[in-house]
Amino acid sequence: MCRHLAFLGPPTSLATLLAAPDHGLLRQSWSPRYQRNGTMNADGFGVGWYAPGDPVPARYRRAVPMWTDQSFADVARVTTSGAVLAAVRSATPGTTPDEAAAAPYASGKWLFSHNGRIDGWPRSAETLAATLSPARLLALEARVDSALLWALVLEQLDFSDSAGGHSPAEALARVVADASASSTGRYNLLLTDGTTIAATAAGDTLFWRSDNRGTVVASEPSDDGPGWHEVPDQSLLVATSHGVETSPIIPAEMEPAPR
Ligand code: GLN
Repeated sequence: MCRHLAFLGPPTSLATLLAAPDHGLLRQSWSPRYQRNGTMNADGFGVGWYAPGDPVPARYRRAVPMWTDQSFADVARVTTSGAVLAAVRSATPGTTPDEAAAAPYASGKWLFSHNGRIDGWPRSAETLAATLSPARLLALEARVDSALLWALVLEQLDFSDSAGGHSPAEALARVVADASASSTGRYNLLLTDGTTIAATAAGDTLFWRSDNRGTVVASEPSDDGPGWHEVPDQSLLVATSHGVETSPIIPAEMEPAPR
C-alpha cells in the first residue's frame, strides 16, 4: 500500500475520515503530496473498522481505485467507527493484483498494512520466508511482500500472546529489524487491535495528529491544518487513548526474534 491511515477516537464516519479532508486518503489515491515512490495509488484499496461490542473488525477491500467505487462512497457515508485502518495501493511489480493483496490484512482482532516494499521481491525474500513454518507460508493472504511481512508480524504476536513477551510495537520493530537485515526495502508498518495503534517509519513518510477529533496516524497529512507531527525515519510509534509516543527503532537493544 502506498498510503495508509489509522484512526482512534470518537465514532466518526468513514467518509469524514477518508473522503472529506482536502488531502485525505481518497484524494491521496490519485494525488498524494508526500509520496516518494510511485505517483498514484490506483491498484485497489481497503478499509477495516471495528463495530461496538465486536472485537473482530469488518473489512471492505477492492482491486479498483477508491475513487471509482460508488458503492463504497455510500457505505462510507453511513458507517461510523471509533477505530479504523485504511490503505490505498500502488502494487509492487510481481505481486498479486486482486483484492486479496489489498490492505488491511486481518487475523482475529488485528488489522495490518505495509507501505513500502522488499526490494528484489520475491528472490530477496527467500531468507525471510524460510524463517516461517510451512503452515504460516501456506496461509499467506496473497503473493505479495506485504503479506509475508504480515505473517512475520503474526508470528511475533502469537509469541507474545502465548509467552506474554512482545507488545505490538515490539513485534513490528523486530520484523523491521529482521527484514532490513535480510534485504533493502521500505518497511512502514501499521497495526491496530482497535484500541492501540503501532506503526513504524522505516523508509517512507509517517505523520500523526491528536486532538478532540481523535488520533490519526498516516503516511501523510489529510489537510493543511495545524497539529500534524512528522515522525523521524527509523522510528516506532504507539498511539492509545492516552496519547502518542515515538521512539527510535534500535535493533541492537533487541534480542534475536524467536524462531
Ligand atoms: N508492496 C506492497 C504492495 O504491493 C505495498 C506497495 C506500496 O506501498 N506501494 O501492495
